[in-house]
Amino acid sequence: MSKSKLIKMMCIGLIGCAVYAEATEGQVQSGKEDVVHEMSTPLAENMMSQSPINIINSIEKENQTSVTFNYKGSLATIENLGHTVQLGVTKGQTITVNDKEFDLLQIHFHHTSEHVIDGKSYPVEAHFVHKAKDGKLAVVGVLYEEGKTNTSFDSLGELPKKKGEKRAFKENINAMDLMPGSKSFYTYSGSLTTPPYTEDVTWVVLKDSPELSKSQIGMVQGAMHKNNRDIQDINGREIIEKD
Ligand SMILES: [Zn+2]
Repeated sequence: MSKSKLIKMMCIGLIGCAVYAEATEGQVQSGKEDVVHEMSTPLAENMMSQSPINIINSIEKENQTSVTFNYKGSLATIENLGHTVQLGVTKGQTITVNDKEFDLLQIHFHHTSEHVIDGKSYPVEAHFVHKAKDGKLAVVGVLYEEGKTNTSFDSLGELPKKKGEKRAFKENINAMDLMPGSKSFYTYSGSLTTPPYTEDVTWVVLKDSPELSKSQIGMVQGAMHKNNRDIQDINGREIIEKD
């Protein structure tokens, strides 16, 4: 076989692998049960810091970790991506974690919650995804529980139900309004909860849970399939809490 022919065959093989990986790593819809099954992707052996986790045995460490929110813009867009509903945001909104600044990129939703606190799961979890200049990610998780109607959540209007449906917000909506008043939190080092499950993500899970009414939770459920990843092994990681 000529060298060029061999290279060509190898290329076709590689493309095949790439297509296969894309097809298996995505979320596959089962029309029959109307449920999304996240196909388990084999993780590299050295991936030992995955998310989400069950938050237990957290330790208080005064003055160790600080998180400040500098959300001075607005939500810009709302879009149904098929596997979630995502909120686009105006530029220049940041959080500072221990003197390191991360830009707010987007906010999206999971149901049920991905993180579990002391074994308790919540109906909805929002992820506020941030990126630093060096490419490192920080995600703030907000767990919502069922209760009274949340007027801030109502300001999002009807969530787009169909994949690809997108609209812009006309009025200013501050991302902080989707968070609880108290910013007490748990923090640990984890990963993205969707492929490629990149690690070294700083997770900040807020302790307090804003309420959503039953019909608001129903609206989230109506806009996406169940999309929470299974709980991952803690593998000896430290969970720090701060009030
Ligand atoms: Zn997420």
